[in-house]
Amino acid sequence: QSEYIRKPEWLKTKINTNESYKKLKNLMRDKRLNTVCEEAKCPNIYECWSERKTATFMILGDTCTRGCRFCAVKTGLPSGVDLGEPKRVADSVEIMGLKHVVITAVARDDLEDGGAAVFANTVRAVRHQNPGCTIEVLPSDMKGDYESLHTLMDSEPDIFNHNIETVRRLTKRVRAIARYDRSLQLLQRVKEIAPDTPVKSSIMVGLGETKEELIEAMDDLRAHDVDIVTIGQYLQPTKKHLNVERYYHPDEFEELKNIALEKGFSHCEAGPLVRSSYHADEQVSQSAAQ
Ligand code: SF4
Ligand code: SF4
Repeated sequence: QSEYIRKPEWLKTKINTNESYKKLKNLMRDKRLNTVCEEAKCPNIYECWSERKTATFMILGDTCTRGCRFCAVKTGLPSGVDLGEPKRVADSVEIMGLKHVVITAVARDDLEDGGAAVFANTVRAVRHQNPGCTIEVLPSDMKGDYESLHTLMDSEPDIFNHNIETVRRLTKRVRAIARYDRSLQLLQRVKEIAPDTPVKSSIMVGLGETKEELIEAMDDLRAHDVDIVTIGQYLQPTKKHLNVERYYHPDEFEELKNIALEKGFSHCEAGPLVRSSYHADEQVSQSAAQ
């Protein structure tokens, strides 16, 4: 394990908390909803919620059956399924006036369909109540179960996103249960099911990968028909999580972005604070314009 490295200046952000932001936080508690924005203490929360009108809801509870070593979500055995959740998400999207919503979920390996039915119902409820809002889904690998994938795709999301998170060599160390090739195959299968739906994936950097490995991961994504890639800095959520091996300089992100665009991705967001859902509203409009 490497020693603790000091956070560089470009990662020090001040969270802007005004009244409307506080109201939205209260809304989440009233509706008993979880957002990745809060859970992951995302530094972009003010920009996303208040200015860009984007948020990432985490459905199917706050307890994940997996325990990835980079992720702050708590691990355990979740209890049951909350059938009222789709409607509450739809209500919140409406109250927040969102233009783009990302719906993700904890991995529910305890459920036969991995939670795909509730996931699809959430997409439908949000669309029914918010026809102008684009919807991006960000599921787990559903253990590679294509029946569950079809259940979700039947709800016709505007973007399908599934993160490979890291390079091939580090997958076992970083992600629990998920496998690099299984994720790639899932992404490709989505393109087969819905050829017009933009498919997206994300990679975190700073976990000890090499540049060559990153380029290989980009090639693998392109070889599996992924259209959009986001690349961001891994930040350690607590001391129990994997150490940051290296902080990439903004110029290095710029270089990675250029490489990604040369590889044929239609869109790439790369930067220290870039998260899987960052500037997602632009990606859907750009893909629609193609
Ligand atoms: Fe939420 Fe994603 Fe925006 Fe962060 S980047 S605040 S997780 S929508
Ligand atoms: Fe976190 Fe997703 Fe891994 Fe669960 S499966 S621990 S929510 S990254």
